[in-house]
Amino acid sequence: MPSQLLSKSKYISGLQCPKLLWIQINEPESISELDAVTQYLFNQGHQVGEYAKQLFPDGINITQDDFMGNIRKTKELLAERKPLFEVGILSGTIYSRVDILNPVNEDEWDIIEVKSSTSVKDVHINDVSFQRYCCEKAGLKIRDCKLAYINTQYVKNGEIDPEELFILEDISTQVEEVSEGIEERVFSLLEVVSNKICPEVTIGKHCLAPYECPLRTECWGFLPENSIFDLRGGKTKQFSLYEQGILSIKDIPNNIPLSRQQRIQKECVITGTTHVEKEEIRQFLDILKYPLYYLDFETMGPAIPIYDGLRPYQTIPFQFSLHIVEDDKSEPIHHSFLADGIEDPRPQLLHELQRLLGSEGSIIAYNSGFEEGVLKELVEAFPEYSDWLEGILVRIVDLLFPFSNFHYYHASQKDTASLKKVLPAITGKGYEEIEIGAGMDASIAYERITYGSVTEEEIAKVRVDLIKYCKLDTEGMIWIVDKLRNL
Ligand code: SF4
Repeated sequence: MPSQLLSKSKYISGLQCPKLLWIQINEPESISELDAVTQYLFNQGHQVGEYAKQLFPDGINITQDDFMGNIRKTKELLAERKPLFEVGILSGTIYSRVDILNPVNEDEWDIIEVKSSTSVKDVHINDVSFQRYCCEKAGLKIRDCKLAYINTQYVKNGEIDPEELFILEDISTQVEEVSEGIEERVFSLLEVVSNKICPEVTIGKHCLAPYECPLRTECWGFLPENSIFDLRGGKTKQFSLYEQGILSIKDIPNNIPLSRQQRIQKECVITGTTHVEKEEIRQFLDILKYPLYYLDFETMGPAIPIYDGLRPYQTIPFQFSLHIVEDDKSEPIHHSFLADGIEDPRPQLLHELQRLLGSEGSIIAYNSGFEEGVLKELVEAFPEYSDWLEGILVRIVDLLFPFSNFHYYHASQKDTASLKKVLPAITGKGYEEIEIGAGMDASIAYERITYGSVTEEEIAKVRVDLIKYCKLDTEGMIWIVDKLRNL
């Protein structure tokens, strides 16, 4: 696509921030390539788009890969009055890809935008309003605008049923509303693009929504260590402080009201000390009953359900790590489960868990609401485990508790109590040495080796990495509990 054209994605970028738009067009090399998670979501969106095409069985795919070829083919096929997929519309300096253009009445068309999200968002309305504007500029008559998005109530039973998988919502009224003034907006963004100088834009909430800006590191790089954006709590207070010219947590004047957590943060930054509430930590540790079971799940949640009985995005656990410490003199014993093959991993995972978790002793998880949610969903699918689950849920203890309640806080945690921040803060050990370092990376890696076409060697390597990663989560919890005991 010629770089000076305003496409719908560039229009959305321009609405978010003119500086972002200018850099995307004039200095695209300054924007880093898609990371693995964004690429995964992109591929998932593509897969969802393919299912949406099945809603129109007589539709024609405009497959031309090259930009002008796609536009030429679109022009040719418009005359056939059939549903068209991946339509390319060019009008002067604006260009839009339309997912589905569906002929209606004698000479009108409906625009159907396909999204892998589970609801209609403002950004979708703006996206479609640009498509409609572009189509109308190119001489097409547009009747309705619709959004096809994922129906989370759909349950797979056999082949994917696109009629059930998607909700097709008419968004014409919302599109009409946001289209007011679109011509001026498009002109002003085209001006931004053609300017030789990048516009000056100060940082703000627009850097975070509708998408986290890929230029945040550059634009936000002037902020000091322990900046006010590391304060716990909502963004409103952070930006209010920023607008008052306060950049560092240590410089927040005493007359500005702070929450208990924020006061602890400020104190830790100023004094360079760690905040420790020994009595509350002791009370937490007293809850733990041997044998201790340190448990962590890895899960995936694909938009298109893989197995019968699953809904879109439903969590599927495929791996767990379990460290068992029998008593205060015992060394931890590690158990690990990682599903192998394309069968539904849940029955075997449940079977292994039941075998290993015993009938007494605390089950320690970090942010246990997640593990509890996974277990409840598992038992919903496999009700024969219901009695067992009741006995399990009452034994679960959340190791997040002392950290989310600031009974322990170190400034390096910044505004989070996540395990990835707490583990290095309290033990000095982290995830840097291992290949897979985050839950989303684990799920992408697992999906790739399980359902993708990869070599045996790669499968073996990724499996080792997955086991190391999940093991570190539960091992890390043991280290944290040991540290808390020594405080
Ligand atoms: S980080 Fe913020 S100010 Fe910088 S380009 Fe992105 S949206 Fe604009």
